Amino acid sequence: MTKVVKFGGSSLADAKQFIKVADIIHADDTRRYVVPSAPGKRFADDIKVTDMLYATYDLAAKGQNFSESFDAIKERYYGIINDLGLDLSLETEFETIKACFIGKAGRDYAASRGEYLNGIILANYLGYEFIDAADVIFFSESGVLDSKKTAKVLGERLSQIERAVIPGFYGSMPNDTIKTFSRGGSDITGSIVASAASADLYENWTDVSGFLIADPRIIENPEPITTITYKELRELSYMGATVLHEDSIFPVRKAGIPINIKNTNKPEDPGTMIVESTSIKPRFTITGIAGKKGFSVINIEKDMMNSEIGFGRRVLEVLEKNGICFEHMPSGIDTMSIIVHQEEFEKKEQEILAGIHRNAQPDVIDIETDLALIAVVGRGMKSTRGTAGRIFSALAHSHINVKMIDQGSSELNIIIGVSESDFEVAMKCIYDIFVTFQL
Ligand code: ASP
Repeated sequence: MTKVVKFGGSSLADAKQFIKVADIIHADDTRRYVVPSAPGKRFADDIKVTDMLYATYDLAAKGQNFSESFDAIKERYYGIINDLGLDLSLETEFETIKACFIGKAGRDYAASRGEYLNGIILANYLGYEFIDAADVIFFSESGVLDSKKTAKVLGERLSQIERAVIPGFYGSMPNDTIKTFSRGGSDITGSIVASAASADLYENWTDVSGFLIADPRIIENPEPITTITYKELRELSYMGATVLHEDSIFPVRKAGIPINIKNTNKPEDPGTMIVESTSIKPRFTITGIAGKKGFSVINIEKDMMNSEIGFGRRVLEVLEKNGICFEHMPSGIDTMSIIVHQEEFEKKEQEILAGIHRNAQPDVIDIETDLALIAVVGRGMKSTRGTAGRIFSALAHSHINVKMIDQGSSELNIIIGVSESDFEVAMKCIYDIFVTFQL
């Protein structure tokens, strides 16, 4: 049995957190490969080391004095080293990094040093081997992960090492420069390492006990999600439920490895298991609810629209030409509504309206703004009658007008559009009907 364990920035923000991490690793012999993030925030107003590195590099790149800013970064690392009582010097590394900053090695290089240095410290503290991610994670010329080369080199390397620390977030380009994933990308590294190690489980340790059924900023103390499928997760993350980097799903999903989201500060909590499929019945009919504000609807009417071949294509072509993607497209016989992100749409509004008039000659176009979308997601809905009915009667009881409904053919989700001013109340009444009243 092999587990790959990834620890996020808040799990490695200071020596106190490092001790918790080591306890977690030592508590289970199968936790063989460890992927750390850079030190994150120690308290609410603290600054993540990654952000300090970006800011320091920006000063260096502009030719300004960056010593003070650089020293603050050194202090973060030496704080950890000293508080752990390690006999470790990072002076050579800091000298090299400074020289590379002056030599304008790039923002990606700068940011990657956060994980690199934290990896060296963690490997030293655990007594594990350190593998530089630049030697085992590769990007292609176009900047996307070279999964073939990575799987081969990383897989071979891991097969020869019993236990190792591999820093997250970066890899190398064909010309040997450093490239990072997008922010939060250590999750992706963890997933790649899990796949290359043919791990049985990818544990992703963070500062929450997994996913919650709803956003705790809207619902007080929501129940946790114990098991969720990849598909459900995709629906919920799309609507804003973020715990895990979206791109981190693919490598493990392809290899059939489940992910367990765990809380470093409460390791006894079971967290959330993310799986391909499961026979475990969800506790409630729904697995989760998530939502977002900030949508607009373009309502288009035209007599005999349904028999006009190519009408939809002509309308959508206008969006495509203007670089706007649409979210949903509920339609009637002679009407079609297109839901778009308000902020993006506003910038191109008149070009789009003129384009639709020109391309499709509609009778009426009308725009509605300030719409919120709510996704009610759950594999349990498929076999349960009346889910939609319960949602709509709950909303009606709370005097909420439903502006749009969209149910995917997978029956995995029901998307509801409501006015932004109704958003919080709508979320709450849906949560209550499926969760609170069932407890
Ligand atoms: N340290 C990087 C960030 O702050 C990557 C990560 O933590 O996953 O985005």
